[in-house]
Amino acid sequence: MKLIKRVFKVIITLFSKVYRKINSKKRYSIPFYSFLGYVLFVIVLIKISGDSKFDKVLLNKRINDVTAINPIQVNKVIQPRSTDEIIKAIKSTTGPISIGGGRYSMGGQIGFENSLHIDMRQFNKVLSLDLDKKQVTIQPGITWRDLQEVIDPSNLSIKIMQTYANFTVGGSISVNCHGRYIGHGPIISSVLNLKITTADGNIVVANRTENTEIFNAAIGGYGGIGVIVEATLQLVDNVKVERQTKKVDINDYNKFFSENIRNNKNVVFQNGDLYPPKYEVINNVSWIKSNKELTDTTRITPYNENYWLEHAVIKAISWGDFGKWVRRTSIDPFIYSSDKVVWRNKEASYDVMELEPNSREKETYVLQEYFIPKKNIEAFTPIMKSIYDKYNTNIVNISLRHAYPDNESYLSWAREEVFAYVVYYKQGTDDKSKEEVKQWTIEMTDAILNVNGSWYLPYQPHATMEQFKKGFPTSDKYFEVKNRVDSMHRFTNKLLDKYNPYIKQRIEKERENIKGYYRDEEQTVLTVPEWYLVFNPKEYSDYLETGNNPSDFPFYASINEYWKLYDRSIKLVSEAYPINEEYNMMLKVIGVSVTMEYAVKIIYENTIGRVFGWFASDTISDEEQTILKAQRAYSDFIYNTAWYKFRFLPWISEVWSTPNTQESNWLRKVERKLFFTFEFAFKAGYSQLIEWAAQSSYEEPVTDIYLLVSAEEIIKLTNDIKIIKEQNNKKLISINRWGAFTKTILELCDKDIEIHEIGGNDEIAVSVLLNKAQQIDFKNIELLYESAVVTDSEITRLVYLVQVNELIQFIRYAKNNSLEVEHVFDY
Ligand SMILES: Cc1cc2nc3c(=O)[nH]c(=O)nc-3n(C[C@H](O)[C@H](O)[C@H](O)COP(=O)(O)OP(=O)(O)OC[C@H]3O[C@@H](n4cnc5c(N)ncnc54)[C@H](O)[C@@H]3O)c2cc1C
Repeated sequence: MKLIKRVFKVIITLFSKVYRKINSKKRYSIPFYSFLGYVLFVIVLIKISGDSKFDKVLLNKRINDVTAINPIQVNKVIQPRSTDEIIKAIKSTTGPISIGGGRYSMGGQIGFENSLHIDMRQFNKVLSLDLDKKQVTIQPGITWRDLQEVIDPSNLSIKIMQTYANFTVGGSISVNCHGRYIGHGPIISSVLNLKITTADGNIVVANRTENTEIFNAAIGGYGGIGVIVEATLQLVDNVKVERQTKKVDINDYNKFFSENIRNNKNVVFQNGDLYPPKYEVINNVSWIKSNKELTDTTRITPYNENYWLEHAVIKAISWGDFGKWVRRTSIDPFIYSSDKVVWRNKEASYDVMELEPNSREKETYVLQEYFIPKKNIEAFTPIMKSIYDKYNTNIVNISLRHAYPDNESYLSWAREEVFAYVVYYKQGTDDKSKEEVKQWTIEMTDAILNVNGSWYLPYQPHATMEQFKKGFPTSDKYFEVKNRVDSMHRFTNKLLDKYNPYIKQRIEKERENIKGYYRDEEQTVLTVPEWYLVFNPKEYSDYLETGNNPSDFPFYASINEYWKLYDRSIKLVSEAYPINEEYNMMLKVIGVSVTMEYAVKIIYENTIGRVFGWFASDTISDEEQTILKAQRAYSDFIYNTAWYKFRFLPWISEVWSTPNTQESNWLRKVERKLFFTFEFAFKAGYSQLIEWAAQSSYEEPVTDIYLLVSAEEIIKLTNDIKIIKEQNNKKLISINRWGAFTKTILELCDKDIEIHEIGGNDEIAVSVLLNKAQQIDFKNIELLYESAVVTDSEITRLVYLVQVNELIQFIRYAKNNSLEVEHVFDY
């Protein structure tokens, strides 16, 4: 406390000394208060500029799964309610398509960049319920929980499903899910019939007698065959079940299971909780058919229950080894101490909300699942433990379930009788934690393959291609069927894209090897204010060259326009994209710099500049002509290169060494030369500082922007455009960035070319200059904002967001309608 007081006292004394010193003499106080006044003026200019009322935001097209660590920016999201809508959407697009159900898969299985995303959750009707055959036909966006609501009154239950009921039927069929049901393997055995909309927009009926290959590929096919638009499932009777538990040593578990559970027709649900961190003891929980009185008469778990206690328990368990010890010795014994007799539908309708943490921002809960041949669990478990120990993994729970082999589905995860190890763990969301998970997952995958096992594909797809081929030996069959019904491989997602051997040979795969290929899409909008500081100096040059008085240039309007574009751009991207702090900071820095420069010009040009302007003659001196040339050279230069690389000093000597041949006013000429010298000398010093800062703090700037295009003819090569790779008519090309990019795109529009993506993105901002008589009537573009050309009220700048695959058509349209495409903003 004493120290703080002393520091405070020293600061106050220092301040008062400086203050007294400044006020003691005019030669100190005049510059000091002038500078203070100037700073205040700059602050006021910034405060009164901008467009804080702008409230338009771009549509958020980021989809994510329950873990919140797999955001994917898609092109468009649709929520169909009918098969016709799905067919229309497939037929009206040509790019990739991704399908989402409940979004509980955890590794990008629901999305792909720039794809048309079909969100199935509104496609959720029960189409028919046959009580005699105990069969139901549904639209696959329905969740198990909603389906239970319909079948429970008829005392029917779902035959095979997961432990929780929030999943959609389509999502569950597409991963070939399984549950805790004894005597059954994956869901495929309960699926009777499917209707699938394929890439050509046709509907295929698939079952065990018709299109069986498609049936076997689509079940557990992760949406790669087409959209499942209808499914018929076998149901079973809803019965009362009674819980029984028993602690068993892991080495005795196989024997215990074979003797007590495997062939016991009365066991409905069963799982064994293998306690971390030792993985030696299993708490076996079986639910047996029962005639006893119900201990809980609830028929189905209600929607929207409060799960605060469950959340607290999971949190406690995730607190290191102590939390796990408390669970094993206190929590579980307490939970399982009471008798329980419930309806099967009640036990089959858990809500995943009971697992959902308050936040997944820094840490998230994730699943993995290993399918280990029944006979090999004793060998596998200690190896699994050693990998977890090595990486200090925070395993919250491992639940063992049994499954019979599935020899139908092509991406089958159970080729023989297996135990599924359902692993629930906690991981950080930062890049380091993700990388660590990847490492131990790959190591674990080797351990799984060594015991002839397999793993579950709805989770993070870290396994290598080699591992995948070993773990899923019939995957070739799956991809053959996929290639047949979807030869363009439009139905895709992160999982399929990684393991699809047909895609591997495609030119698109090259993108992953090109450093700097992917650019952040929001930067096409954020770069608009930055580019304004290129357009505005050009305007200044144009203005001076047409003989205007420099004092009349609308400096304030220019500052105001910059901050307007800044406010609007930041607002526009605020919801659709993650915050781009680096770019935001850069825009602030250049905005403040230009405001400081223009503030000086406002003060100077409206005082000294104006007085000397009265002496100006009609003819401009040669020296002043050189000043105009210098301004033009600068404004041309910054179209293609960073401003701080411009060499300012040679222009000062050029101006002072220009011999004058014109009749012009001497006073004005000298005043202009002096002001120009001050401006360019200051910029020379400042640019040097920025260049040093840029060299020390930034990586080499990306100078090329990459495009994926289709073009029959060979694109004329200039120095600005290079062909990186060609495959049939598809090409990966690069174009120099900045001014050259716009120039090249304008040239390309005369060619027979189709652009698929630019910098890995599907949207790009384009500005067009329009006079009052002109208007734009082009479908599928979004007007972001209007911007003023401050020296010409007849012209407006319109900034549009254009679909990359329509960029060429848009530019052609602009050309045909004599509209000036000012700039294509290259991220
Ligand atoms: C807490 C939790 C517990 C879990 N427990 C189990 C369990 O006990 N047993 C088990 O087997 N799994 C379990 N899972 C995994 C779960 O079964 C899968 O993640 C399943 O895909 C979830 O269904 P969904 O509706 O969320 O599908 P999504 O994750 O949305 O989609 C999964 C896949 O299906 C595709 N798809 C979705 N709908 C269709 C359609 N109509 N046509 C074609 N393709 C489609 C998607 O493209 C995607 O590839 C669990 C997951 C979580 C998060």
